[in-house]
Amino acid sequence: MDLKKTIREIEDFPKPGINFKDITTLLSNADAFRYSVDAIIKDLKEKDVDLIVGPEARGFLMGTPVAYGLGVGFIPIRKPGKLPGEIESYEYGLEYGTDTLEIHKDSIKKGQRVAIVDDLLATGGTVEAATKLIEKLGGEVVSIQFLIELEFLNGRDKLSKYDVNSLIKY
Ligand code: IMP
Repeated sequence: MDLKKTIREIEDFPKPGINFKDITTLLSNADAFRYSVDAIIKDLKEKDVDLIVGPEARGFLMGTPVAYGLGVGFIPIRKPGKLPGEIESYEYGLEYGTDTLEIHKDSIKKGQRVAIVDDLLATGGTVEAATKLIEKLGGEVVSIQFLIELEFLNGRDKLSKYDVNSLIKY
């Protein structure tokens, strides 16, 4: 299936010069949505995953159906101040300034096998932060799955020690 055809590209969003990949048109296409989720599930099936972790917010959209399909639990990673329980947080650098992500401290047990699912790999900063949080809690990152990879940003370089898979490449 040609998934690229189901993704809408929007010029100059959210800033001039950025060609934004809008996945809402893939999600609203029943065949494309099912095909994408099934493809990620198929890749993870033999990897003996205990949990799926998804970063806010589009990681929730792809990560939860994958977790449901595999029959495992889902753990959210969120922006600061959103999770109600005790949290672990990780601050990481952006081009200008920093960002922080948080996870519930008790969400992953030592030695659990975790796969991260997100919509898009750009510079890799978001998912690298997710790996740090998972590893701080004692989880093992056994796979990282993206719907889209922007290859020209070389985000994979930050994730070179992991199994990384993406369905659509630009
Ligand atoms: P990174 O941390 O630079 O890899 O950025 C990845 C994050 O930015 C992902 O969680 C995406 O949701 C978001 N993002 C960056 N560019 C796009 C885009 O073109 N479409 C949708 N999301 C994007």
